Order: sequence, then C-alpha cells, then structure tokens
Amino acid sequence: MALNGFLEFFQKGKTFRPKKRFTAGTIRYSLHKQAQASLQSGINLRQVVRLPDGENLNDWVAVHVVDFFNRINLIYGTVSEYCNETTCPTMSGGSRYEYLWADGESYKKPTALPAPKYIELLMDWIESIINNETVFPVSTDIPFPKTFPTLCRKILTRLFRVFVHVYIHHFDRIVSIGAEAHVNACYKHFYYFVQEFDLISSKELEPLQEMSSRICKD
Ligand SMILES: [Zn+2]
Repeated sequence: MALNGFLEFFQKGKTFRPKKRFTAGTIRYSLHKQAQASLQSGINLRQVVRLPDGENLNDWVAVHVVDFFNRINLIYGTVSEYCNETTCPTMSGGSRYEYLWADGESYKKPTALPAPKYIELLMDWIESIINNETVFPVSTDIPFPKTFPTLCRKILTRLFRVFVHVYIHHFDRIVSIGAEAHVNACYKHFYYFVQEFDLISSKELEPLQEMSSRICKD
C-alpha cells in the first residue's frame, strides 16, 4: 500500500504537534524522499533500511529518526483520546513492563507517570532534540556532534516504548479504525531499521519480541 495513503489516513486523525520537515534541496531531503519512495514501491523492507552506497550513516539515521518520530506521533494521535490517566495510570506494556520517566531536569529521579503524560514528555523531548540544529544540523556543512549516535539510540529506544504501549493497550482501537496493516507496516520498517544498525538493545525489544518474530520475518 502506498505510504501517501497511510499519511493521509493518519493526518485525518488527531495529531498534537507539527511535523518536522526537511528543507527541499538538501541532502537530507533527498535521502528522506529516497527512503519514502522505496517504501511506496512496496519492496522488501529489510532491504530498504540498508545504508545506500556512498551515503553517510549519520544522515541516514537522522532522516529515519525524524520520519519515525512523525509517523509514531500520528499513530499515537489516533489512540490518544482513549489513553488517559484512568485507562492508563502508568506507562506500561502489560503487567510485566513499566517505564519510568527521567530527564535530568524536571524529573531527576525515574518517576512513574500516567502513560499520556509520559508520552507527551517523551515526544516533547524528542521534538526539542530534532529541532536543535547543533544536534540535527540542517546543513551537511555542519558536522553532527559526537554524541549523535548515542542520542539517536536513546530516541529510538524511547520511541519503541510508544509502540509497546499502543500495541499492548490500544490495539483494539487500531483494529477498529482499520489501521492495523498501516501500524504493522510502520512497526516492521522501524524494527528492521533498528536491527540493521543495532540501535536498540534486545532487552528493550523484549516486550514485543513475540510479535516481532511473527510479523518481521520476510
Ligand atoms: Zn494508554
């Protein structure tokens, strides 16, 4: 299915922040377009996540981090009205997994929060990083900081938790609006990407491991 359809579909849903876009004419914009185009043609996802010949790994990771942020943001937007302090008093993935929030500023110690609050803080945190031009430079003349790979691992690890929460607690909503295939496609793309570059530890992937082994095998 075409990614355009997917995006249109979700843009009709509820979103709570503007999408970050790439500036036309930049290398990152063309990489972003390249990544999108290969998705639309419906070819093997395991193949499309590979670093294209001659491209820089940081650029490739940067465009994917931003794209996944936008897409996961839209997915959460479709369930967010069903995710509140009563339905989801903690940021959990079933009874076995609970995530605590810490940002070293307002939350110095790992703190249990209702899922919508946790996800709001998480998305705000990612948004502020990807909009920080010293971390995600807009021009390829400006180098990525040394901390870039570590930071991207952390962003992707935290984004994965949104998948965990949505799949385990709100999948009925995803199914009821007919978005299951779209969410699974986004998940598969994300999963293959983080596996290709070993960006999320297997321990963090554990909550959805059973599903991953079922849907991510081609
Ligand atoms: Zn929830």
